[in-house]
Amino acid sequence: MPKPLTDQEKRKQISVRGLAGVENVSDLKTNFNRHLHFTLVKDRNVATKRDYYFALANTVRDHLVGRWIRTQQHYYEKDPKRVYYLSLEFYMGRTLQNTMVNLALENACDEATYQLGLDMEELQDIEEDAGLGNGGLGRLAACFLDSMASLGLAAYGYGIRYEFGIFNQKIVNGWQVEEADDWLRYGNPWEKARPEYMRPVHFYGRVEHTPEGVKWVDTQVVLALPYDTPVPGYRNNVVNTMRLWSAKAPCDFNLKDFNVGGYIQAVLDRNLAENISRVLYPNDNFFEGKELRLKQEYFVVAATLQDIVRRFKSSKFGSTEVVRVDLSTLPDKVAIQLNDTHPALAIPELMRILLDTEHQTWEKAWDIVTRTCAYTNHTVLPEALERWPIDLFQNLLPRHLEIIFEINRRHLERIANLYPGDHDRLRRMSLVEEGDQKKINMAHLCIVGSHAVNGVARIHSDIIKATLFKDFYEVDPHKFQNKTNGITPRRWLVMCNPGLAEVIAERIGEDYIRDLGQLKNLLEFVDDDSLIRDIAKIKQENKLKFSAYLEEHYKVKINPNSMFDVQVKRIHEYKRQLLNCLHIITLYNRIKKEPNKNWTPRTIMIGGKAAPGYHTAKLIIRLITAVGDIVNHDEVVGDRLKVIFLENYKVTLAEKIIPASDLSEQISTAGTEASGTGNMKFMLNGALTIGTMDGANVEMAEEAGEENLFIFGMRVDDVDAMDKSGYDAMEYYNRIPELKLAMDQIAGGYFSPDQHDLFKDIVNILLHHDRFKVFADYEAYIKCQDKVSALYKNPKEWTKMVIHNIAGCGKFSSDRTIAQYAREIWGMEPSLERIPAPDDPRQ
Ligand SMILES: *Cc1c(COP(=O)(O)O)cnc(C)c1O
Repeated sequence: MPKPLTDQEKRKQISVRGLAGVENVSDLKTNFNRHLHFTLVKDRNVATKRDYYFALANTVRDHLVGRWIRTQQHYYEKDPKRVYYLSLEFYMGRTLQNTMVNLALENACDEATYQLGLDMEELQDIEEDAGLGNGGLGRLAACFLDSMASLGLAAYGYGIRYEFGIFNQKIVNGWQVEEADDWLRYGNPWEKARPEYMRPVHFYGRVEHTPEGVKWVDTQVVLALPYDTPVPGYRNNVVNTMRLWSAKAPCDFNLKDFNVGGYIQAVLDRNLAENISRVLYPNDNFFEGKELRLKQEYFVVAATLQDIVRRFKSSKFGSTEVVRVDLSTLPDKVAIQLNDTHPALAIPELMRILLDTEHQTWEKAWDIVTRTCAYTNHTVLPEALERWPIDLFQNLLPRHLEIIFEINRRHLERIANLYPGDHDRLRRMSLVEEGDQKKINMAHLCIVGSHAVNGVARIHSDIIKATLFKDFYEVDPHKFQNKTNGITPRRWLVMCNPGLAEVIAERIGEDYIRDLGQLKNLLEFVDDDSLIRDIAKIKQENKLKFSAYLEEHYKVKINPNSMFDVQVKRIHEYKRQLLNCLHIITLYNRIKKEPNKNWTPRTIMIGGKAAPGYHTAKLIIRLITAVGDIVNHDEVVGDRLKVIFLENYKVTLAEKIIPASDLSEQISTAGTEASGTGNMKFMLNGALTIGTMDGANVEMAEEAGEENLFIFGMRVDDVDAMDKSGYDAMEYYNRIPELKLAMDQIAGGYFSPDQHDLFKDIVNILLHHDRFKVFADYEAYIKCQDKVSALYKNPKEWTKMVIHNIAGCGKFSSDRTIAQYAREIWGMEPSLERIPAPDDPRQ
């Protein structure tokens, strides 16, 4: 009998992980040892696992350097149009494996570390996530960076280097507890500080209108120190830059008029300035109007625009150096994409530069700004829309407020000419909202200051045109576009699910990795028993691996033969984790009632962070853990139903759980989830979707065939009709016995025996104030889940449906999304061409 392959040997067989040539491997070993010695200053007697990780990271990093320098030199010489992706969040996750995948080094590194007696996966697990994001919006920015590099675009990601990213979530007695994410503690081998490019950013002060022009004076200055991280494209030798700014107090900060005793305090006060880049605000889809946040938003914008203008002015055409003197051709050479309204200040800041520094006329400046900027809207939820109180603005950014007022005056003048006498329209469309406290509506500022406004899935783009931005669509229909979100197939397939990537490559070749539309070629094989077997086998292996991971790290044992039913995303009422809970309780009650029926065993896993100030979301987590405590310890239920709360959901946990999932829960109230990208990750990794007709689910159903998803519940029209007629939760509660039972159990302390009214707030919301109409979709959801359970009993039919889904994933590559942004918004042409590699591939 042949010996079973070790994990290391199994990975070696896989071609999508690159080739492990002997020279390659021996070079890697040499360089690994060199870094251990010279960079880490250790030998093998005293080196820790972390030293080995850093030695490997540095060895791999060396392969980026020559390509990075070459790419930037290439941009300098060819002077292509640049795109700047401005975002307050870049949810990058880990970098080591992604770099190995994109540089085709994975197998070689695996072999090299193996020969050195190390386990590469164990080393990879030491890397901290770069958790500089909350959820979908930040992860989208990260996927876009990968796609922009893979499509050869001269692109830059610009953001903030938060010292603390999204908090680490601990579950203590069933409750979420937050811990600081000290991700830089051991150093970050992927970043390069560039103190030589430090830039001043001004705050506060006052505005002087003088005969020579406008001056913003008596400001406080904070320095923006850039850190560059390489962003490699997929096997094309392109390496772009993500530049994150860190706040640094100037040497003379608070020292101008110090006296004895004031000096120490002045040095201690440097922290105040440096707090700007201290921590990511942990809200997903929620606006918190704090001054520090407004400072962060201006900080990234002001530093970035200085960079953009400097780079534009010092560009070189071909071989003749030209220093551009004015900015009139800026829109031909620069595109700025605003990831939501968070960097909206780019609009008044660029105006300020053009007016006050470049001395352009208003008309000229405004033309440049609007042709350069474009805005992506990510949500219609009113509580998420940025509306900054004017007092805050007046104090912190007085010149910007003046400019915004002037933008608004001209904008309203235009609207008044178009609609004489329509005062209500002027009020609705104003950038300044009247009320107790005047506020600046940042979305309105973005629409007016951009040439393109896009939603992130077709249904969402239609909704913003019909509701949120209706008035703006009416006057400028040409601005409004759709760019359905996507995910990078490198991280979300090749990297996290190499087994599946390989099984696909064996049938249709490897080209689909850069051209995901080719996945449709899999349809030829839907009835091919060998493919069905291979796909089912990979899923089972992934489930076993994840079960082992859970057992090792969380001491929970799950049944790997049960259906893995997974909902992982930020905890939010609109995402309706509560609907999932009601299904769990319903299944539990059914099993208890008829314990001898042939139930389809399920392991239901829910994970996600609640914003620390979001009381209801935290209580939802407590409910999930409470239901788990009862269900998981009920002997009658056994391993037919288990409920697991997955602690600390983040990019790296997503990479582990998604490939192991059978069922993907995408159950938001229709009209609330702008797109979703988690939905796409599951689809690509061979999970089936149970979902509403919301966000990108609509297009997933269109691509895979609606019969290949489990679609249920109200459509947007139904929700709208119900808003008009009135939603009466009690009607459902009184009419549906299983729903009533579940609610009575939650309300009566069945899941919280020590504190019967623990969930009273949740019960009160669901029965009386539910904006998201959970009960209205309950029956349809339960019936749909019954269909899911029935199909799971037929593994072959299940897997065929999975293949239809994978084959329908082509549209959801972020390469497609970015190609559309490039052509339809940025005026750039994507390319799959490789640029020449440096002579020494290691440099
Ligand atoms: C993809 C992703 C998200 C977004 O998930 P949705 O289901 O679209 O909300 C959030 N968090 C992490 C860690 C992700 O990887």
